[in-house]
Amino acid sequence: MKILKGAMVVDETTTIASDIKICGEKIVEIGKDLDTSGCEVIDVSGCYIIPGGIDAHTHFDLDTGTTKTADDFESGTKAAIAGGTTTILDFATQSKGKSLKEGLKEWHLKANNKAYCDYGFHMAITDWNDSVCNEMDEMINEGVTSFKLYMAYKGSLQVDDSVIYKALQKSKSIGAIIGFHCENGNIICELVDKYLKKNKTSPKYHAITRPSIVEAEATRRLMAIAEVTNARVYVVHLSCKESLEEVLKAKCRGVDVIVETCPQYLLLDNKKYDLEGFEGAKYVMSPPLRTKEDNDVLWRALAENKIDSVATDHCSFNYKNQKELGINDFSKIPNGSPGVEHRVGLLYTYGVCTNKISINKMVEILCTNPAKIFGLYPQKGTIKVGSDADLVVLNPNKSKFIKADNQVQNVDYTPYEDYKLECEIEKVYLRGQKVSSKGEITCSNANGKYLKRASN
Ligand SMILES: [Zn+2]
Repeated sequence: MKILKGAMVVDETTTIASDIKICGEKIVEIGKDLDTSGCEVIDVSGCYIIPGGIDAHTHFDLDTGTTKTADDFESGTKAAIAGGTTTILDFATQSKGKSLKEGLKEWHLKANNKAYCDYGFHMAITDWNDSVCNEMDEMINEGVTSFKLYMAYKGSLQVDDSVIYKALQKSKSIGAIIGFHCENGNIICELVDKYLKKNKTSPKYHAITRPSIVEAEATRRLMAIAEVTNARVYVVHLSCKESLEEVLKAKCRGVDVIVETCPQYLLLDNKKYDLEGFEGAKYVMSPPLRTKEDNDVLWRALAENKIDSVATDHCSFNYKNQKELGINDFSKIPNGSPGVEHRVGLLYTYGVCTNKISINKMVEILCTNPAKIFGLYPQKGTIKVGSDADLVVLNPNKSKFIKADNQVQNVDYTPYEDYKLECEIEKVYLRGQKVSSKGEITCSNANGKYLKRASN
């Protein structure tokens, strides 16, 4: 047994000076001055203890057809634990003409014996038919209780409104939830053609061809289909004010919608696309970065309970050789950026330390809500007797700068280069075992477990 002694323990509602006793993989006691006999005592005074972070949106070991993400499950999950995230949910994806089962099997092979944190899968459906519909039940039995549909990426991942309707009817009947990438892929395709024909090929045209209105339109359409089907929907990586407005209007009508945003939409803006040369490619992601005003709107929405969760959409490609695939054509730049390692530090520094959100709100959006939404609560996402001892010791008296040179993420840049973090992730425990210390991995084995999740 071990006792973490002397910290302020933070969950989604309270911040209390407490000791935490761990036996095996579980939290067995929480309270002041716990009996330490027979325990290893770890002094963490002056620090906060928060629940292990849950990043519900990562893409590790993803093949885009032209290249493969820089991070696989090993480097991606090592980066996660170094930064205080002990659970990730990655997107297993159905290939065209294949079954969901085959997609799931493929992702299990990618993650098995490689994951340093616990993990689960959402299942992205790209090729709908009756047998896929029936397979959704089997996915639930496999612990995959959430799905994803893309309203963008015409010709590859995109599905149409009738598929959205049918899939939502099915998900409602089996207690699943579907996440949606909301952008109008048809309009984007037209805009991309238009600018390429004018020989406008630089990274900034990525953003110009995916304006906020095409995200808001898809969000509005999804809200309508959700209303018709009465199913719960989850909007992934919401990036702008216009989309948020559509969600809020729908909520007033009684639509059951949950919203996720990402650190990049809170902290970065579209001025990055005006950087010299090809630098803007580092920020080519979908949706693209928006305005400073959008950043502010999203922060306020977090504070006012209008956004439920912050995940990273970690999808890393090296600047050299990978992002450069699109050096003569912005539409060929692989979409995505790294972030799984820095989510907790960034939200603490730029949210809590600036008084935009409380530390309890931070825990809610990084840990508790993702656990509740995706069927992991109270095993994960909180600090309670009986919960997994996934614990992060955050030292608010230390600081560090984010640098690509010293990150664990296996990628040659970070969108947050030289951002100061007003904390250090001093120790991270995964089911009772110390797995990282001061940003360094301290366990030699990939001990992450696959999480079978519950449906509603
Ligand atoms: Zn994504």
